[in-house]
Amino acid sequence: MILGLLKEKGDETRVALLPENVKSLTAQKVEVLVEEGAGHNAFTSDEDFRDAGAKVVKREKIFEQADLLLQIQVPSEEDIANIRPDQVWISAFNPLWETGLVKKFLDKGTTTFSLDSIPRTTRAQAMDILSSQATVAGYNAVLEAALQLPTFFPMFMTAAGTIRPANVLILGAGVAGLQAIATARKLGAQVAAFDVRSAVREEVKSLGARFVEVEGAKEDKAAGGYAVEQSEEFKRKQQEAINDHAAKSNVIICTAQIPGRKAPLLLPAEAVERMKPGSVIIDMAASTGGNCELTKNNQTIVHKGVTIIGQSNYPSRLPLDASRMFGKNVMNFLALLVTKEGGLHLNFEDDIVKGTCITHQGKVLNERVKSVMDNLN
Ligand code: NAD
Repeated sequence: MILGLLKEKGDETRVALLPENVKSLTAQKVEVLVEEGAGHNAFTSDEDFRDAGAKVVKREKIFEQADLLLQIQVPSEEDIANIRPDQVWISAFNPLWETGLVKKFLDKGTTTFSLDSIPRTTRAQAMDILSSQATVAGYNAVLEAALQLPTFFPMFMTAAGTIRPANVLILGAGVAGLQAIATARKLGAQVAAFDVRSAVREEVKSLGARFVEVEGAKEDKAAGGYAVEQSEEFKRKQQEAINDHAAKSNVIICTAQIPGRKAPLLLPAEAVERMKPGSVIIDMAASTGGNCELTKNNQTIVHKGVTIIGQSNYPSRLPLDASRMFGKNVMNFLALLVTKEGGLHLNFEDDIVKGTCITHQGKVLNERVKSVMDNLN
C-alpha cells in the first residue's frame, strides 16, 4: 500500500505524521510519499522524512500514486476534483457540520474517514484526535489569555503590595475546558467552570476549580458523552448564573460545543459589558458561531475595553507536540487498516472502522452523519 502525506494549506502549521511515525510505517512495508515541505511549519524538514524512509514528492504525484491520502484539514475543491473513487481519504472534516463536503464525496464515490468522528469508546481513546488536540488547545488558550491580560494570574504578596489572583471562568468542561482549568490553576488563578453535564462536576473540583451549579440540565447517555440541546427554562437559569460569574471574571475561556450544531450562545453582549475593562475572552467555539455573541471568527476585537479573541485552531500554535499527538492517534487508527504485509484492508465489521468511515462507494457509513444527511433530503 502507498500512503501519501499531504502538506496542509493556509495557516495550518501541523502535519498529520512525523518522521518517527513514517519510520514505523516503512518498517511495516508501507510505502510512504510525503509532499514537499509537509513538515516545514512543524519544524520538520524533507530531509527528516527522507531519513525515516519516505519519498518526498510533489502533491500531484501523491494524488496519482497513493492508495491512502492523509491530511489534517478539510480537502479543497481541487483535492476533491483530483481524488479518485478507488482512493481512501483520511482527514478531519467535521462531517456533521460540513454536509456539503459529504455530498461531494458521495457523488465522487471516494472512501473517506474523518478522524473527528472516531467513536468515543475506551478502545478508541488512543485514536481520538479531538481529545489530543483539545488538550493542546485548552493549554494554549489559557497561555494566550495570560499574555493578553493587563494583570497577573497568580497572587503576589510583595514589598510593593499585594496582587490579587485573576478570576478565570471556563465555559464547557470537556477535554479542552479541563485542560484550561488545569493550566489556569498552575498559573495561580482562581477558577470556576460551568458545564451542562453533571458528570464533570467531580473532575472540575479535583482540579481545584469551583463548579457553577445550575439545576435541571438535560443529559442523554445516547449522545456518547456529548452535550445535548437544553430547555428554554434551563437556558434562562444558566444565563443568570453565567452573567453573574462573568461580571466577576478577568478571563473567560469558551469551549462549549454541541457536535453538528451551532455552538450554544452563553455570553450575550450585556454580560461582556458587565466585565471590567482589560478583561479577556477567548472563544474557542468561534468556528461554529462562538459562545460569545460578539465573537468574530479568526479575529480579535475589543468591545468596551474587553478583548474578545475568536480562535478555534489553537493546536496550530503548538505545531510540534500537536503533530506528535495527532500522529500517534493516526498510527493507532492505521493499525486497524494496515495488514501485516503492509496492505490496506477496510474491515467494516470493526465498530471503530465503520464509525469513522463517512463515505464508502456512494453510501454514508457513520450512523450520526447518515441521520443528518437523511434529514437534509
Ligand atoms: P465538546 O468539545 O463537544 O464540548 C465541550 C464541552 O462543552 C462539553 O463538556 C459539553 O458538555 C459542554 N457544553 C455543551 N453545551 C454546553 C452549554 N450549553 N453550557 C455549558 N457547557 C456546554 O466535548 P469534548 O470535550 O470533546 O468531550 C465531551 C466528553 O466526552 C468528555 O468530557 C468525555 O467525558 C467524553 N470523551 C470520551 C472519550 C472516549 O471515551 N474515547 C474521548 C473524549 C471525550
